[in-house]
Amino acid sequence: MSNEIPYKIYLNESEMPNAWYNVRADMKEKPDPLINASTHQPVTKEELREVFCDELVKQELDNENRFIPIPEEIRNFYRMYRPSPLVRAYFLEKKLGTPAKIYYKFEGNNTSGSHKLNSAIAQAYYAKKQGLKGVTTETGAGQWGTAMSMACSYFDLDCKVFMVKCSYEQKPFRREVMRTYGASVTPSPSMTTKVGQQILTEHPGTSGSLGCAISEAVETAVTTPGYRYVLGSVLNQVLLHQSIIGMETKAAMDQYGIKPDIIIGCAGGGSNLGGLMSPFLGEALRGEADYRFIAVEPASCPSLTRGAFAYDYCDTGKICPMAKMYTLGCDYIPSASHAGGLRYHGMNPILSKLYDDGILEARSVKQTEVFEAAEMFARVEGTLPAPESSHAIRAAIDEALKCKESGEEKTIVFGLTGTGYFDMFAYEKFHDGKMENYVPADEEIAQALAKLPQI
Ligand SMILES: *Cc1c(COP(=O)(O)O)cnc(C)c1O
Repeated sequence: MSNEIPYKIYLNESEMPNAWYNVRADMKEKPDPLINASTHQPVTKEELREVFCDELVKQELDNENRFIPIPEEIRNFYRMYRPSPLVRAYFLEKKLGTPAKIYYKFEGNNTSGSHKLNSAIAQAYYAKKQGLKGVTTETGAGQWGTAMSMACSYFDLDCKVFMVKCSYEQKPFRREVMRTYGASVTPSPSMTTKVGQQILTEHPGTSGSLGCAISEAVETAVTTPGYRYVLGSVLNQVLLHQSIIGMETKAAMDQYGIKPDIIIGCAGGGSNLGGLMSPFLGEALRGEADYRFIAVEPASCPSLTRGAFAYDYCDTGKICPMAKMYTLGCDYIPSASHAGGLRYHGMNPILSKLYDDGILEARSVKQTEVFEAAEMFARVEGTLPAPESSHAIRAAIDEALKCKESGEEKTIVFGLTGTGYFDMFAYEKFHDGKMENYVPADEEIAQALAKLPQI
């Protein structure tokens, strides 16, 4: 092990960033605005304020301010688990026999087990500051619901979580963690909302979807006085909060004079990827540096690599504003055999725009390849990775193996977004050889895209 670069680079607490970085400020062409789902006009602040907290509406619409100060109360919470380590994957490099230098930023070192807490605590803070009673939200795999319950309990806010039914049944312990932090958890679709009732009538016995849980959470927020809705990915405000990942990564790398060649993130709704890449994207957009940015998505939910760049609904119930994004259509539900998370049908509008402009690359990977990478990583680096994070691990390994062939000593950094302790059903399927690789046929994608609204 070289003694120049330590295995883990920890910033000091005092070196933790005191502002989030807003990459939109450095984009010459801004992402397209959210539009009202019925009028198709750009949404106004007033419309958004019925759904989201005031301060978060401001952040959502802010294309101009480069830095947004992180309030002291949020920084105090961050101190419980940040700065997070930037790890040099010496053991993985050795295992691969690659001349590449691999780093990962580890965000799983908190009880919620993922990066989602970075935005959850910000959203809870602004809800509290506005004097709200509580928030509603959805959760798919469970990480966001867990993060939001932790954040709400810290600020003494009520938290109502709609959890996609199949994961409610498959991950009872996730549910119990949320209840430990005081949240109420309802399997979605449920009979507690009009949209839930409608979906259950149309699709009896459905195991639910993220889009459907979002609709239920939004309906509950707008019909319950003192409540607003919060979302853990896709939105620009979430990407903004997650920029702390990239800023810490960049600060740690700068201390040791490390310059990455390739930056890799797994892509669900885009928040961790956008957060990790933001400061580096900023440099690229300002013409100060040149990086390869790679988004990695599941082959069974390939919004960037096979979707369309179009205005689409963000939720199944079609009540949220619409976003221009890479999407598979709001009715697209990945095959039931898909176990590895990242199942949202669309992609954050900033990243969609950057991908369309050719600044960001994307690729899709099959889930057995993802779990092979996960297992190799767990065995040599120690940490049991979340299946979502393992999409990024897969791509990092593939890039490192290319370096082995070419002899290039590239520096690769990827986001290790979380731990996989609640994903052992998926690991079990993989170990038992029962994991299938579902890749939607062209006709299936075409059918889903044919239903996109014409705007
Ligand atoms: C939610 C989640 C993701 C994907 O969400 P993004 O918004 O795309 O970052 C990735 N990894 C983990 C561990 C998650 O919990």
